[in-house]
Amino acid sequence: MIDIVISGGRVVTADRIFEADIAVDGEQIAAIGDAETFPDARERIDADGKLVMPGVVDPHVHLSGPNSMDTYATGSRAAARGGVTTVCTFAWQTREDTDWTSLQDGIEYQRKEGQRSIIDFNCHGVITEEAIDSEEIDAALENGVTSFKLFTAYDFGVSNGGLEHAFELVSDREAVVLVHTEDPTICSRLENRQRQNGETDPVTYPDARPIHAEAMAADDAVRLAKESGVQYYGVHTSGAESAEAIVAHRNDGNQIRAETCTHYTALDRSAYKEHGCLSIMAPPLREPSDQDALFAYLKDGSLDVVSTDHVAFTRATKDADAWWNSEFGINGLQRSLPVFHHESVVRRGFSYPFLVEKMCTRPAETFGFESKGSLTPGTDADLVVFDPNKKQHISADNNESVADYTVYEGKEVTGKVDLTMVRGTVVVEDNEVLVKEGHGEYCKRISPDWSAGGTNSV
Ligand SMILES: [Zn+2]
Repeated sequence: MIDIVISGGRVVTADRIFEADIAVDGEQIAAIGDAETFPDARERIDADGKLVMPGVVDPHVHLSGPNSMDTYATGSRAAARGGVTTVCTFAWQTREDTDWTSLQDGIEYQRKEGQRSIIDFNCHGVITEEAIDSEEIDAALENGVTSFKLFTAYDFGVSNGGLEHAFELVSDREAVVLVHTEDPTICSRLENRQRQNGETDPVTYPDARPIHAEAMAADDAVRLAKESGVQYYGVHTSGAESAEAIVAHRNDGNQIRAETCTHYTALDRSAYKEHGCLSIMAPPLREPSDQDALFAYLKDGSLDVVSTDHVAFTRATKDADAWWNSEFGINGLQRSLPVFHHESVVRRGFSYPFLVEKMCTRPAETFGFESKGSLTPGTDADLVVFDPNKKQHISADNNESVADYTVYEGKEVTGKVDLTMVRGTVVVEDNEVLVKEGHGEYCKRISPDWSAGGTNSV
C-alpha cells in the first residue's frame, strides 16, 4: 500500500508537461507514471482537468520582524493558500528591536518563531556590519544557512568595502550572497528634495528612488562579486536598467543570478495613483516598458526567479500623510502564483514549465533546497493542484496575512490553487487550512553549486 495517489492531472515540471499520476508515500513522491502500475493507495486525489506542479519555493519572504507584521503562523497560512510550500526568510545579525548582536542569535530566533509555520522554511543570514567575522559565517553554515544578504541602502547598509569583505569570506565557503542594490546617496538626496518641495503624494515616490540608482549599485556589487568569485544573487530587480546592469556581467548563470518579484511584472507606477501608499515598496514600481523588459530577461534566462519580497503591514501603518511616513513593503504570498500565472501564461503565452522553473525549480536549486522544487521521486511531496481555467476576483477580504489589503484588489485573474500539499500532508484544500501550526519544518540547506549553469524553458 501507498498513502496517496493523485490521478488524472497534467503534471508540470521545469522541463515538460504530461499526463501522469503521482504516487505519494509518507512524506515523499514515490513515483510518477500510470496509477495502474502503482500499489494500492489509501487515498485518492482527483486532479482531472487540473495541473499538478511542485509547490512554490519563495526565496524572498519577511516573517517575524523586524520589517514585517506577519508571524510564521499568519504568513505561512497566506503562503499555503497561495501554493507556496517553502519559504526562505531572513535572520538579522543585528535588529533594532532586540539587543542581540550575532547572526547566530538571529537564526535561533527565526527557528524558534518558525515552529508555528505550516510550511517548510529556512532563512538567509542578513549581514548588517561592515566587517563580519568569519566565525559568524561558519556558524550559520553549520545550521544549514548557506546564503547571506547585504544591503547598500538604509542605515544597516554596508559600503563597497563591506561588500567585498563579506563576498570574500562567503566565496571561500562556496555559499551565496544576495544584495539589495540602491545607491543610498542618490536616493537620500532625491528624497530630501521631495520632502523640501512638499511632494507628499506617493505618485512622485518612484522618482525618489530612480532605477539608475538601482542600476549603479547593482553594477558595483556584481563587479565585486566577479572579483571575489562569489555566487551572487541580485534581489528584486525592478526594471530594464537594473536588469541590464546584471546582464552585462552575466554569461551563463554559473556565478551571477537574479530575481524579479511578482509585483514588478504585474504592476507599474500608476499603482501609486490607484492604491496610494499601500503600493509602496523599495525599489518602487516602474514603467510599463520595464514590465516588458523583465519578461524578456526572464525568457532568455537572465532573470532566474520570481519571488514576492513579502512584507506585511496593515492599512493603518501604510496610509500616511506623506509617502516617506509610510511603512515600506507589500504582502504577496497568497497571490503570487495566480497573479504570475495570469501575467505570464495567460496574458503573454509563456509555458507552464516556464512558470514552474521560475517559481519552484530554479529557486530551490539556487538556494540549496535539495529536496524541494521538483516532483522527482524520492524528494519531498510538496505540490500544488492548480486549476488553470478557474477565474477569481482578488480581494483582501480573505487575506490570511495580518496585512488587511492587497495591491491586486479587484483584479480578475485566471488560475486558482485548489490544493496544497507539504511533505505528503494536504495543508490547504478549497481555501481551507487543514493543519495546525507547527506542521512546517526547518529545512537545512546545502551550499549550492551553480556551475552547471542555467536551464531555460520558455
Ligand atoms: Zn526583501
